[in-house]
Amino acid sequence: MKINLLVSAIVLSSAFLMSCATAQVATNLTPDKINAALDEAYNKFKDVKEGKNADYIKELATVDSKIFGIALVTTDGTVYTKGDVASMVSIQSVSKAFTMAQVIEEQGHQAVQDKIGVDATGLRFNSIIAVELQKGKEINPLVNPGAIAATSMVAGKDSAAIWASILNFQSQFAGRTLSLNMPVYISEAGDNLRNQAIAHLLYAYGRIYFDPVQATDMYTKQCAINVSAKDLAIMGSTLANGGVNPVTKRKVVSPETVMYTLPVMAEAGLYDDSGIWFYNTGLPAKSGVGGGIVAVCPGKFGIGVVSPPLDAAGNSVKAQMVIKYVVEKLGVNPFLIQPK
Ligand code: GLN
Repeated sequence: MKINLLVSAIVLSSAFLMSCATAQVATNLTPDKINAALDEAYNKFKDVKEGKNADYIKELATVDSKIFGIALVTTDGTVYTKGDVASMVSIQSVSKAFTMAQVIEEQGHQAVQDKIGVDATGLRFNSIIAVELQKGKEINPLVNPGAIAATSMVAGKDSAAIWASILNFQSQFAGRTLSLNMPVYISEAGDNLRNQAIAHLLYAYGRIYFDPVQATDMYTKQCAINVSAKDLAIMGSTLANGGVNPVTKRKVVSPETVMYTLPVMAEAGLYDDSGIWFYNTGLPAKSGVGGGIVAVCPGKFGIGVVSPPLDAAGNSVKAQMVIKYVVEKLGVNPFLIQPK
């Protein structure tokens, strides 16, 4: 009896402590605070002129450089937006994080570690030397070689089925049916000899698991999916919420898949500037040359920003500034630990 009482006392007090913790998180991130942080970030950085649209994919050079949208989606499914969250850009490399999650979900985390690798290359996203140095090993799914390898591992009986499955996964993360930006796809597909070279070099090392030409083509399509800042934020919030889309409430991947996806985003999400990014924000993130960045605050929210002008590493200048500002303002760097 005494023991029972003791157990119930412990259960009750730990439930109380847990509810305090939840309440604390909730009060820290009030709608007012979030809206204020997004407003301030928008106004502070809207006139920044640094950076330049990607132009190695010709169609990207024609995208309106002034598009600037910010969205933050909390794990309870509340959507906060500022600026232009209607305009869409091609998702480009941001898609890599979600296809990586798909492959982990389908084949297990060990398969990704063994058949692709999970180490940061420390080199540019389309580095051929990165492949050659390690004979196709120790790359990761967030740079072009590892991403093409990941695409080649997606389950499906032929390229049509694999592509349908990739698009379906990306759409589930976003909570709506995404579609292809045809001009971007055609522009890149007609001019992607470098990615084809990467795929063939990997294939020569036995590290591509489908036809290399078709794998490169599916990868190119995946990069040409259209998204808004809001789509990116919902995709990020699905990871922040352990794999359940907080808006649709549908499970996309397991919590374990998210657990293995976020560390690679932390170490390699912004290419050769990933270390600087992680040092400054503490958040796993992924950028794309279309101008989008998604960052994940585990358990709390996903944030998506779109602004096409890029820095030398290929990351959106304004998106980096906005997310860093919002993280500091909201005090949500997971490594900011308040001593007991
Ligand atoms: N589709 C682009 C490429 O393969 C994606 C690169 C990126 O966003 N960094 O070059």
